[in-house]
Amino acid sequence: MSAKSYTITLIPGDGIGPEVVSAAVRVLTATGLDFTFETEKAGAGAMGEEGVALPPRVIEAVRRNKVALKGPTATPIGSGHRSVNVEMRKTLDLYANLRPVRTLPGVPSRYDGVDLIVVRENTESLYSGLEHVVVPGVVESIKIITEKASSRIARFAFAYAEKHGRKRVTAVHKANIMKLSDGLFLDCCRAVAKAHPTVAYDEVIVDALCMRLVLDPTKFDVLLLENLYGDIVSDLCAGFIGGLGMAPGANIGEDCAVFEAVHGSAPDIAGKNLANPIAMILSGAMMLEHLHELEAASRVRKAVLAVLAEGKKLTRDLGGTAGTTEIAEAIAGRV
Ligand code: NAD
Repeated sequence: MSAKSYTITLIPGDGIGPEVVSAAVRVLTATGLDFTFETEKAGAGAMGEEGVALPPRVIEAVRRNKVALKGPTATPIGSGHRSVNVEMRKTLDLYANLRPVRTLPGVPSRYDGVDLIVVRENTESLYSGLEHVVVPGVVESIKIITEKASSRIARFAFAYAEKHGRKRVTAVHKANIMKLSDGLFLDCCRAVAKAHPTVAYDEVIVDALCMRLVLDPTKFDVLLLENLYGDIVSDLCAGFIGGLGMAPGANIGEDCAVFEAVHGSAPDIAGKNLANPIAMILSGAMMLEHLHELEAASRVRKAVLAVLAEGKKLTRDLGGTAGTTEIAEAIAGRV
């Protein structure tokens, strides 16, 4: 076992965040690794208490520790504070959103054998929330696509594919309509693809991708998407493997990485011990891999698989009756 010690910034977030983050901490602690978790408040809770959703000290803490485990943070719809996620990803330049989507045995779902990697550009595109009122009744929302960010995310996707033995990268776009912006994104993807001849490359229009994914998600390998398309397609993909409770993720930059599930704060089930903690626990396993603790990461994954395979303890979203804490204990007990 590793003798190293790790200080991790812990951002419990809003809604089910504190429940699923403490489940992940329970499992990570069970690996026997030496973790110190420094808890920081961000999100709607911080907004209410401190008047700021992402206090600067949270950013400083992630910069200092370089690794964070984050629960979902709530963002008001149509008004109110800017998304903590958008702010954090931009400020820390966490440019790559990595979301593996895999069928796990024992989880009821419509498809078998799904094994997709969603690579989403995390810092620009329409998702930046750059909007203003031109005149009353007319609003402009600005989509920025740069060569720098597009090339960088394409390099990330191809490097990931090479490192993990993936066969194909599919760039997703709407360049038939957004000829300049998505056209630039594609130009960058094509140039990077040329430098990686061992990985096959193709392109698909985003609406056609959605239809083809629903017909047969096993036909795709690594999906490379701009920010907004990546956000939407990630939730679609989560639906292939049992829902949002099963989909982990990571936001990765040159200096820091923030690990968080795909799902949001799920206010409908918050505080009821009903949330499925597996997406957050698997995000924790991704964090272990990032820390090069591969053996511990493998133990966490195997423990998740063992609990799912037994089929006795499942949360309500997977058709069971077990609570968040029960699942965390069952997984921790097998790590
Ligand atoms: P959501 O992901 O919170 O919930 C969608 C549905 O999935 C709900 O029915 C919810 O109960 C269910 N669900 C989600 N996670 C689950 C889990 N772990 N176990 C069981 N069921 C789960 O999406 P939403 O309702 O659109 O958003 C709610 C809030 O979350 C919004 O304020 C939104 O801005 C925020 N959000 C945050 C993040 C993030 O911080 N990374 C991501 C997405 C949404």
